Amino acid sequence: MPHRNREGHRKRSLAVFPGSFDPITNGHLDIIGRSLSVFDQVTIAILVNPEKHPLFTVEERVAIIREAFHGEERVQVDTFSGLLVDYAERLGASVIVRGLRAISDFEFEFQMALMNRRLNPRIETVFMMPAESYSYLSSRLVKEVFQLGGRVRELVPAVVERRLREKYGTAGVVHPPTRERGSGGREVPPSSKSERGIHSRASVRSRRA
Ligand code: ADP
Repeated sequence: MPHRNREGHRKRSLAVFPGSFDPITNGHLDIIGRSLSVFDQVTIAILVNPEKHPLFTVEERVAIIREAFHGEERVQVDTFSGLLVDYAERLGASVIVRGLRAISDFEFEFQMALMNRRLNPRIETVFMMPAESYSYLSSRLVKEVFQLGGRVRELVPAVVERRLREKYGTAGVVHPPTRERGSGGREVPPSSKSERGIHSRASVRSRRA
């Protein structure tokens, strides 16, 4: 039964979709689309975390998401810091939406959902699964693939591809294999595990505009 307010009007259901969105990907878009088929409105809430070093500033991420959802009145963008459940309560949202890609997401998400329930039992966490084709997609992988000259066109909205190109400023240039020089002139391997994993495949392909 839909919730009604004192005047008997149906209360619009609002879900909050929190995350870093650095940058937003088609996996996020998939989850937002699914959320809109269940809830009246979705607020994409960008966590402001001074300890993280994002590629895009909070302002850039807000602008990117606004452009990606231009004309979609049921989707809002906002930023928050502090406890998510406090933010959701202030916003008037009774649901937190999170995406579940694989078993690897589950443990962390399960802990967070239970902790959030303990902090505020009035707010429910709902998990949604993306289309299988996005189940491997993450913001981190998109950034790494792009940096190494790989194609990201089907993985992100057009505005993100454009912003990535502006950010890195080297459209069409394939970067040589990432061999950073350590402080002692020693060659050090690429810094992250996934970068090592995609490196050989991504670096042989040229970036198509
Ligand atoms: P966070 O740092 O909170 O994980 P993200 O921007 O990486 O921020 O993710 C925000 C939400 O979107 C999380 O619930 C995450 O599981 C979900 N998500 C990210 N990528 C995908 C994807 N490809 N498919 C489905 N859900 C995703």
